[in-house]
Amino acid sequence: MNIFVTGGAGYVGSHCIRGLCDAGHGVVVYDNLSAGHREAVDSRAVLIVGDLADAALLDKTLREGSFDAVMHFAASAEVGESVAKPLFYYRNNVANSLLLLETMHKHGIKRLVFSSTCATYGMPPAVPITEDMPQVPINPYGRTKLAIEWMLRDCATAWGLGATALRYFNAAGAAPDGEIGEDHDPESHLIPRVLKVALGESKEIRIFGVDYPTPDGSCVRDYVHVADLSSVHRIAVETQPEGQFRCFNVGTGQGVSVKELIEVAREVTGHEIPATPSPRREGDPPELYADPTLIRTTLEWEPRYVDIKSTVECAWEWHKSHPEGFAS
Ligand code: UDP
Repeated sequence: MNIFVTGGAGYVGSHCIRGLCDAGHGVVVYDNLSAGHREAVDSRAVLIVGDLADAALLDKTLREGSFDAVMHFAASAEVGESVAKPLFYYRNNVANSLLLLETMHKHGIKRLVFSSTCATYGMPPAVPITEDMPQVPINPYGRTKLAIEWMLRDCATAWGLGATALRYFNAAGAAPDGEIGEDHDPESHLIPRVLKVALGESKEIRIFGVDYPTPDGSCVRDYVHVADLSSVHRIAVETQPEGQFRCFNVGTGQGVSVKELIEVAREVTGHEIPATPSPRREGDPPELYADPTLIRTTLEWEPRYVDIKSTVECAWEWHKSHPEGFAS
């Protein structure tokens, strides 16, 4: 297949394009490099530095590209920032996706895999989370992703778009060969922050909330390895029927608490990693982990990394060898 990938220079996108290239697909990455890294883009892929809001460039690229499918990663994805700058999120995520869909429709491209999120569930009524639970996001980021899912459903009905929304839980880890990994600025995510303490780049990790109604009082999340996200995107695009909207939770099904994660990182790095109980971070649901039954049975996808230790080991190899990320 010839696949157009928005946001392919970002963390999840860059791992997914490697998987597509390995499987022999042609890949054109479209990324404005506002958060992504040129160095993260596989040399077998073509990189077009462009903005999704640039209607003329997008139109030209899709007209000339003969694409069979689109993978749509490009988005702003910081919950706190979305609360402070909601209109920026609605423009960057919703309006740009609208333009992408209009342009796909114009050029007859009818397959899409969309990077959605468990944040569309908000505070779920129970865990593990199944796809039929109500989607009631609690921040603008989650609401923008849910609005895009609605557009995809409506386009499937109206003009035969085939779309899969992959609702990821917490993307984690790095390429097993250590070539690419996580590099955000600023870094807000737990695993890289914990590993930066082990590297001596920060003094301690703050545990955001120790009084949650969870077994050890800290938040529980489902950390899914980027290599597994890569394989699931490839399978989703290869199996995408036209005219059908599908949605899947993408997680391991294992809940890991912040305290447990820090303990695993201590074991992997051999560093004591001082941790300080701190106030809750606004908007954090206590417990989020997936019921991955639907994706396992429908797409026959099995995550290779179900043990959190192996995911942290991959992340540690990357951060040790790239202490300044791609600038190292
Ligand atoms: N977290 C923490 N300290 C940090 C960063 C994150 O305790 O310095 C917690 C955060 O409150 C959440 C979990 O770790 O419960 C995962 O946070 P992350 O930002 O990695 O992902 P999120 O679940 O928000 O998408």
